[in-house]
Amino acid sequence: MTDTEQTYRQILRQLETNGCLRTLPEITHSGKWAVIGGRQLLNLSSNDYLGLASDPELHASFLAGLSGEEALLSSSSSRLLTGNYSVYRELEDMIAESYGAEAALTFGSGYHMNAGIIPAVADSNTLILADKLVHASLIDGIRLSTARCIRYRHGDICQLEQLLQKYHAVFPRIIIATESIFSMDGDVTPLMRLVEFKRKFPQTMLYVDEAHAVGVRGKRGLGVAEEQDCMKDIDFLCGTFGKAMASVGAFVVCSKIMRDYLINKMRTLIFTTALPPVNVAWTKYVWSRMDDWADRRAHLHVLSAHLKQMLELSGFHSDSQSQILPMTIGESSEALLMAEKLQSGGYYVLPVRPPTVPAGTARIRFSLSAGITVEDLQGLQLLLQKKKE
Ligand SMILES: *Cc1c(COP(=O)(O)O)cnc(C)c1O
Repeated sequence: MTDTEQTYRQILRQLETNGCLRTLPEITHSGKWAVIGGRQLLNLSSNDYLGLASDPELHASFLAGLSGEEALLSSSSSRLLTGNYSVYRELEDMIAESYGAEAALTFGSGYHMNAGIIPAVADSNTLILADKLVHASLIDGIRLSTARCIRYRHGDICQLEQLLQKYHAVFPRIIIATESIFSMDGDVTPLMRLVEFKRKFPQTMLYVDEAHAVGVRGKRGLGVAEEQDCMKDIDFLCGTFGKAMASVGAFVVCSKIMRDYLINKMRTLIFTTALPPVNVAWTKYVWSRMDDWADRRAHLHVLSAHLKQMLELSGFHSDSQSQILPMTIGESSEALLMAEKLQSGGYYVLPVRPPTVPAGTARIRFSLSAGITVEDLQGLQLLLQKKKE
C-alpha cells in the first residue's frame, strides 16, 4: 500500500470508529417491500411518494405505447449538439402549461439543476440568502458561484427579513434559496411570506426547490407553491422527477428570457449528455396523468397524519407537515439501535446521523409512499415505545 492510500485508509478507519462509515446496501425490491439479507421489510425509506415506481401495471401500459424515437435508450449527445429529441420540448411545454408559466427547462438530475442554475445566475454582485438546511446540491451550486452567501437559521423568516433590510441597498441582486418541503424535517416553508419580501425588495428573486413536493402537494400535484397559490411569484420553481414522478431528471419553471439565458450559461446543462429519450418519454407519460394521481395524494396525506399521530402518542413530536416524518432520538448510537429494532420488526427505516443532521438530533427518518396501507403501519406502534427512563 502506498503512503497516499495509507492516508485514505486512515480516514476510513476514523469514520468507522465514529460510526459514520457509509457503505452501499445490498437491496432488492418487490413492490412496496425491500428485500435485505433474505428478509422482506416494508420500505419506509424511499422517495416513491405516490407508489408509481412500484406499480408494474403503469410501467406495462407505458411500454405498450412506446415507439419511434421515444424508445431510444441514449441521446448520445448534449442537448446543444444532437441530443435534443423532440420529446424534451414536448415535456417542457407540458410542464410550463401546467404551471401557467412562460417556459420550463429540464435537466439530467436535481443535482445538475441546483449545481448549475445558481452559478449561472449569481455573480459577485449577487447576495444569496439560503436556509440553513438546504440540500447539498444547492450548497454546491452556491460554492461554485462567485456570489456572497449568508445562511439564515432554518425557517427563521424574521432573520431573513433582517438580512434583507440590512443588505438590500448593498447588492443589486438578491436570491432567496429554499426548499418547500425540507428533506430531513418534513416541514413546509410559508412561501407566501417570501413572496411578500419580493414586493418589498424588488431586486429579490425566489429560488424554491420543490423536490419533495412535486406530484404530492397541491390539488393538481404541482407542489407547495400551487397549494399556497403563489406559483407565478417564484422566479425559479424547481422540481425533480426522481421522487414522486418515479423517473429521473429535474426541471425549472421560469421566464422565457431566463430559459434562454440558462441554455447559454448553465454548464451542467451544456456539458453533459442529455437524458435518454425513453426516460423523458416516461416522465412525460407520468406528468400527463398528474390528475389521475389525486387519490394517491389524498391517501399519502391520510398515511402521514396517521403516522404523525402514532409518533406523537409515543412521545415523538415533530414539525413535519408532510410525508417525511422524523423521529428524533438524539444520540447517534441510540438512533442506530432504534433503526435495528424497527428493521427486526419488519420496517425498513434508516438512521440519519450528524453531519447530515445537526449534532444531538440523530433520528429515524420515515418516508411514506401511497403504495402502503394504514394496516401496514399497525405493527409500528409497539415498536415505537420510548425506552423507560
Ligand atoms: C433529491 C433532491 C435533489 C436531487 O435530485 P436528484 O434528481 O436526485 O439529483 C435536489 N434537491 C432536493 C431538495 C432533493 O431532495
